[in-house]
Amino acid sequence: MRLGDILLERKLLTEQELNIALNVQKITGNVLGKCLTSLGFITSSELAEVLAIQHGLEYIDIRHYPVETELLKIFPKNITESAKFLPLEETDGVIKIVVTEPSNIVALDKVKSITGKRAKPYLTDEESFVDILEKVYYFLENPTEKIIEDAINATLTTGITPPDSFPRIVDAVLAEGIRRGATDIHININAGIVSIFYRVDGILEPGYFLPRTMHTGLVSRIKILSRLDIAEQRLPQDGSFIFTFIGKKYEVRVSTIPTVEGESVVLRILFGGSEEFYSLNKLGFNETLSLRLKTLIKKPNGIMLVVGPTGSGKSTTLYALIREINRLQRSVITIEDPVEYRISFAKQSEVNEKIGYDFALAGRNFMRHDPDVILLGEVRDEETGKIAIRASITGHLVLSTLHTSDAVSSIPRLFDLGADRFLLSSSLLAVLSQRLLRKICPFCKTSRDLNEREKEIFLSAGLHCEKIYYGIGCKICRNTGFFGRVAIGELMIINEKIRDMIYEGASFNALTEAAKENGMIPLIIDGLKKVADGVSTLDDVERVIG
Ligand SMILES: [Zn+2]
Repeated sequence: MRLGDILLERKLLTEQELNIALNVQKITGNVLGKCLTSLGFITSSELAEVLAIQHGLEYIDIRHYPVETELLKIFPKNITESAKFLPLEETDGVIKIVVTEPSNIVALDKVKSITGKRAKPYLTDEESFVDILEKVYYFLENPTEKIIEDAINATLTTGITPPDSFPRIVDAVLAEGIRRGATDIHININAGIVSIFYRVDGILEPGYFLPRTMHTGLVSRIKILSRLDIAEQRLPQDGSFIFTFIGKKYEVRVSTIPTVEGESVVLRILFGGSEEFYSLNKLGFNETLSLRLKTLIKKPNGIMLVVGPTGSGKSTTLYALIREINRLQRSVITIEDPVEYRISFAKQSEVNEKIGYDFALAGRNFMRHDPDVILLGEVRDEETGKIAIRASITGHLVLSTLHTSDAVSSIPRLFDLGADRFLLSSSLLAVLSQRLLRKICPFCKTSRDLNEREKEIFLSAGLHCEKIYYGIGCKICRNTGFFGRVAIGELMIINEKIRDMIYEGASFNALTEAAKENGMIPLIIDGLKKVADGVSTLDDVERVIG
C-alpha cells in the first residue's frame, strides 16, 4: 500500500491535503513524507509510525526512550550520524537500534562490523532522531555534573570560584534543564548553600547544591545575560535572554526577587516550537471525551473554553483542537501570548503589549479579517470576554482559555467578567476543565494491593480498582517514579436545559447536576480511573485536584 493511501485510511490525512502535498512535491521534488510534514498535515512522528507499519517494523518514540551511554562509547558520533542510527540497548547479544529509514542496511552492517553482533532495527522519526542524536553525544562530551563538580571543588580548595567558570556553570545548568524537559529552574539560598531545583512535569526536583560563595557570581552572570542591573539586589527585576543550545534557540525568562538570605532567581525556559505538536488522541484524554471534543470542534459558531490552573496543559489542548479543524476549508486566526507552536495554514498573531497590540485590539480587528475560527489565547478581563462572546454570536467558533478550577465555575467567573446572561447562555458551547497527571515510569513500574484508605476512596467513587501501580524509581526517571504526563478532563457540554439554567442564574450545584446528567464525568473520577488503569498514582491525582 502506498504511503498516501495508508494515511487516508487511518484518517491522518484528507484527500484535499494529499492533493496539496502532491502539488508541493511536484514543485519541490521532495519525497511525499517530507512534503506532508513541512506542510504540517502530519507530524514527523505520525509519519514514522505509518512508515513502520508499511515496512513491518516496530515504532519507537526515541524522545521517551533511554540510550545506554556505554553503547554510545562504542559507536562514535561520526559513525552513527553518517549511517543514521542510534544504539539503544543490548539484550542477549542483540543490539537494539533506531533508524529513520526502514531499509537502512548500512546501519545493520556497521553494528555487525564494529561489534560482531546482530542489530535489531526499530523505526523512529527523523526530527526526534536528529534532536536526540545531538543531545546524547553532547551530554556524553559535556557531562553537566562534572562541569559543576569541578567548579565546586575549585571553590572549596581555593576559597574562590574562578570567575571565568560562571558562564560554563550557567550554560550547564540550562542545558541540564533542557535535557530534563524542565519548565523552570529555581536558584535560591537556603541553609547557607545555593540550591538549584528544576520543575519537571509540574514538580520541583533537586538539581545541584553549591557553596554560598558562588551565589553572587552565578546571579551576576544571569543578570548580565538578561541585561538586568547587577548592582540592584534589593528590588525584584524581570528580563529575558536567548539561550542557544545545539543549534536551537530557547527564550529564557528571568525573574529575580530579594529574599532575606539573598536574591532568588527563577528561569523559565520557553520551548517554543521544539515540542511535539500533539494530536488530540495523544494527550491522553479518555476516548469518550476525545470523541466529544472532535464533534464540538465541527460546530460553526459558539465558544469553547479550556480551563484549569497555570501549567495544566490548556494551550496544548487548544493547539490539538485547532489541528482537528480542516484549515484548508475554515480560516483560522490566532491571537496568542506568545505563539508557542506554528500551525500550518493558520494566521497566527502574537500580542505585543508594549506597542499597545493587546488581545482586545487584536480581537476587534480580527473579526474583519474573515475568520471562521478564532483562537483567543485567554479570556483575562471584561474586554476579552466581550470580544469572545461578540465573535461567537456573529458566526465564529471561538476557542479560548480561562483560569478556573472546574468546568462549572467558569460560568460565575464569566459573569464576574461582565458577561451578559443572554449572550453568554446563547453562545457557550462547552467547557473543558483539565489537569495533567504524571505517568508512572514504565521502566520501574510495579504494583501492590490497595490499603484501607484507597479501598474506601474507590468504593465511594463507585470504581473498581484491582491493584495500585507505582514507580519504584530508576535512573531513567531520575528516581521520581514518573515519566511523562497524561491529561484528564471533565467536559461540560451546554444543552438546552443548561442554557436555560445559565440564563436564569442557576446555582453552582444545580448546574453541576445538570452537567453530569448531560454526560460530564467529574475530574476526580477521570483521575481515579487513570489510577485504576495503572497510568498514574492516587498521590498525583490528589496533588493536581486537591
Ligand atoms: Zn523509573
